[in-house]
Amino acid sequence: MPIQVLPPEVAAKIAAGEVVERPASVVKELIENSIDAGARRIRIEVRDGGRRLIRVSDDGCGIPAEEVPLAFTRHATSKLTSIEDLQRITTLGFRGEALASMAAVSRLTLVSCPAAGAGSSPLAGIQIQLEGGRQVWLGPQGAPPGTTVTIENLFYNVPARLKFLKAPATEAGYIHRVVAAYALAYPEISFHLALDRREALHSSGNGRLRDVLIEVLGLDTAQNMVPLDEECAEASPTGPGAGIRVSGYVGLPNLHRAQRDQLIFFVNRRWVQERSLAVAVAQAYQSLLPVGRHPVAVINIGLDPAEVDVNVHPTKSEVKFRDQAAVFSSLQRAVRRCVLDAAQPPQIGVAGGTGVGRPPVGTGVLGRDFNQVEGWQRPSQLGFEAQRTLGDETTWSVKQSIPALRVVGQLAQTYILAEGPDGLYLVDQHAAHERVLYEQLRSATHELARVAQRLLKPVTLELSPGQVAVLEAHAEALSRLGIEIEHFGGYTYRLLSLPAVLQNEEPAAAIGDILAELAEDATPMARRSDERLLITVCKRAAVKAGRVLTMSEMQELIRHLEQCEAPRTCPHGRPTMVHLSTAQLAREFGRL
Ligand code: ADP
Ligand code: MG
Repeated sequence: MPIQVLPPEVAAKIAAGEVVERPASVVKELIENSIDAGARRIRIEVRDGGRRLIRVSDDGCGIPAEEVPLAFTRHATSKLTSIEDLQRITTLGFRGEALASMAAVSRLTLVSCPAAGAGSSPLAGIQIQLEGGRQVWLGPQGAPPGTTVTIENLFYNVPARLKFLKAPATEAGYIHRVVAAYALAYPEISFHLALDRREALHSSGNGRLRDVLIEVLGLDTAQNMVPLDEECAEASPTGPGAGIRVSGYVGLPNLHRAQRDQLIFFVNRRWVQERSLAVAVAQAYQSLLPVGRHPVAVINIGLDPAEVDVNVHPTKSEVKFRDQAAVFSSLQRAVRRCVLDAAQPPQIGVAGGTGVGRPPVGTGVLGRDFNQVEGWQRPSQLGFEAQRTLGDETTWSVKQSIPALRVVGQLAQTYILAEGPDGLYLVDQHAAHERVLYEQLRSATHELARVAQRLLKPVTLELSPGQVAVLEAHAEALSRLGIEIEHFGGYTYRLLSLPAVLQNEEPAAAIGDILAELAEDATPMARRSDERLLITVCKRAAVKAGRVLTMSEMQELIRHLEQCEAPRTCPHGRPTMVHLSTAQLAREFGRL
């Protein structure tokens, strides 16, 4: 076939495909336009998962009548004039492609009326209709100030796309996600979403992020989240990360999900899909969450627009940071500090307080009020004198504290009873010891603890095929930890050494338990093998429930626990202690 230039309609449909992948992309582009237009209220109406109809109306600035046809020309935009502007994008849109793309693959009607001022007669509005990108009607139309775009029969002329759409309920789900994300990013705007005439989401626009969290994630989830607000300039006002502001809400360690879908990120309040940000947050929760579970967080990263490139993909949902490492470590450090700070020992007997780590709502237990973070800051409100200096590696050093504890005794051969400044603490001896061993083994200063102890006589292990598979998958990590096992023939192996912490264990049983634990833990999460193994070894080596401890053993354990970075949870994310305050005791005894 000879080379030929594609007819304009074909080219337009191909280009449209990059911007408009599914009904949710249409909703996203229209919402972004409304936000850019300064809307305070945005209503979204969807029928049949968006196939039949998507309508977005706003009370924004509107489009002057004479500019309306131009808005549907590809690369026509009011948000950018020169290539230099591209380096400092402060609007959500800038490519001038969305309206043209949507019009190319649907029946589109736009009614717009510029905000009052010029001539606020009700007939000042204009209506335009396009079919498959061709203008079929243009005329005056009375309308309130603002813009309404209606998209019908999406993809009617692109059968390939139509075929790939999922069931209406699934597409509606994607749309809900988009609206929810923007409602969270813009608490000062009221969003209203109706799916097949039923209200699916309604945010009030009162500017309080916490209210939107409750609407979107539910009260139970929101109650277990704490505000995060950190400007990263502490080291030096010009160092890496200076001028980066991490804010939002993060879940307490007791709040976790099987999926990552409740990790929501914005960059300068643009909703982005960036895996690296999710990884940074997962690392911030390291050893605080159960293995294989994901945290819940809604986080905005505010930074100088010149520091981020948003023009990576036509959908504008990927970004590139100029200093990726600085963003990554600022995010990680801010989240870690916030979570460690907030995770207090769970209180005994507080209404609904049996959940791990849950603070009583709205009380001062957190030391900070839930309503502290009110909305996000616009990037323009931040100061950006930041100058970068390179080579200054940022490391986090944050430490959670526990109160000074005086050991009183042991309960049920499982819990250490201790008195603190505000009442009674029950410490789970196994969980606490796991935490201590975990941090000791991890830190370089305790190399000795993980030094391999050669066994006087190798121990023969008869393994099952399943155990062999697990062993081979983790062989390297095992040997790094001082567990050396050599193949002896068939399913027979010989254990040559164990780490010092396991020296008092029966070797074959210890290895059997560790392999079983590793086999069970087939989590898809990319936790490093070393980390998993470490946790497993600690579990095995830690003092068990049911063992009588002497006073001095308990005191030593508490002393070590106090030195831990995250003493309030075991490496699996369970609490190491629960708290019964003197106030609660007084209440129980009717002294108040
Ligand atoms: P972009 O948003 O990248 O500029 P679009 O194709 O989405 O490109 O929109 C083209 C132009 O139409 C915008 O630059 C803006 O001037 C105008 N426009 C689109 N939607 C609205 C709206 N809801 N309110 C006011 N103006 C709008
Ligand atoms: Mg746009």
